[in-house]
Amino acid sequence: MLTKLTIMNEKLNERKKLLIDVLSIQTTSGNEFDMIAYIKDFCTEFVPKAKVVIKDNNIYVTKGKSKTYPCIVAHTDTVHSIHKYYKVFDDDGCIFAFNSETGLQVGVGGDDKVGIWIALEMLLKQDDIKCAFFHSEEIGCVGSSSADMEWFKDVGYCFQADRRGSTDFVNSISGKLYSKAFKKSVKPILAHYGYKESSGSITDVGQLAENGIGVCVANMSCGYYSPHSDEEVVIFEHASNCLDMIETLVDELGNNVYEYQYENKWANYGYGSNKWGDFTGASRDYWYGNYGTAQNEVVNEVVYDEQTGEESCYYCNCTELMESEYTDDTNDYRFCPDCCSDILLGEKEVADPNQMQLELEAEDVEYEDISDSYDDSLEHRTIVNEYLKNK
Ligand SMILES: [Zn+2]
Ligand SMILES: [Zn+2]
Repeated sequence: MLTKLTIMNEKLNERKKLLIDVLSIQTTSGNEFDMIAYIKDFCTEFVPKAKVVIKDNNIYVTKGKSKTYPCIVAHTDTVHSIHKYYKVFDDDGCIFAFNSETGLQVGVGGDDKVGIWIALEMLLKQDDIKCAFFHSEEIGCVGSSSADMEWFKDVGYCFQADRRGSTDFVNSISGKLYSKAFKKSVKPILAHYGYKESSGSITDVGQLAENGIGVCVANMSCGYYSPHSDEEVVIFEHASNCLDMIETLVDELGNNVYEYQYENKWANYGYGSNKWGDFTGASRDYWYGNYGTAQNEVVNEVVYDEQTGEESCYYCNCTELMESEYTDDTNDYRFCPDCCSDILLGEKEVADPNQMQLELEAEDVEYEDISDSYDDSLEHRTIVNEYLKNK
């Protein structure tokens, strides 16, 4: 008789096998045909009843018949080059890749092949689900910018697993991504899986929000680390935990619609296409209070060269780092234009422990203060204009 543990182990082994299979397919922006073919073949073989449409190099998969569907999206490109000899290895759940011709480590492409794997697992498991796979996210959300929004008409909410690490649940990309009601429904689940809300940089769900999808969307960490670098690895346990969480979220939210009208905070100022990172020098503290500064494990993402005094991005080695609006009283951040993300330089020394306590409390404050404090009033506009002028 099979024990519960053996069944669990078998499930995990099956999951890992598929993940390694997906990670073994190489793509780079504009050359994503192998992945598109893989997803199509996968559906034909394992999800035969699903309807698969390939349109403008994006893939749209619909499984089941429902008035409304949960939706998972991912991107089919990676930033890595395609190697002639490429092999994925698994060392106790740490999954990495080597170019066996040069004998050097190369990025495993977890960004966003982990997202693709999660979508495929969801297609296997759920009765009613939609999944979209977009091409060329890494060169500016090209696929999702021209997404077929008709196809999203019966989508109730949309998730993407396309962020490094294991604990971020992204609730804003240049504007809030979901409603208070949605937040209330997902909050206990996030806590259970060790996630907390954070803001993030542009990816396909942000683009869909921008396109006017009209429902709640979110992006989240899915267990890849050091994306956009040759050192990129995937920690299976973290990827699997993300999949578990998405399954639970979809079970909880069901085939319901969570309406939400996204607003790009900068759209009114003619900066609609600009993302957060372009606003160098803004004090995050000023606009947002202390939200988003919680750091359980502090990892310094900015590498500081003592000799030359040069700062570089831990993920992509970029040395053109800019100021970040995330910098506040407790943490110093930089913005990496290559990764398009805000990276941690380090904790500031805090002299007064009472002050520290105050700030910790401030973090617990509802995140709604992000835009609640921004009221579109003349006063606010003046402040923004003043700021832009002085830049
Ligand atoms: Zn990505
Ligand atoms: Zn990326």
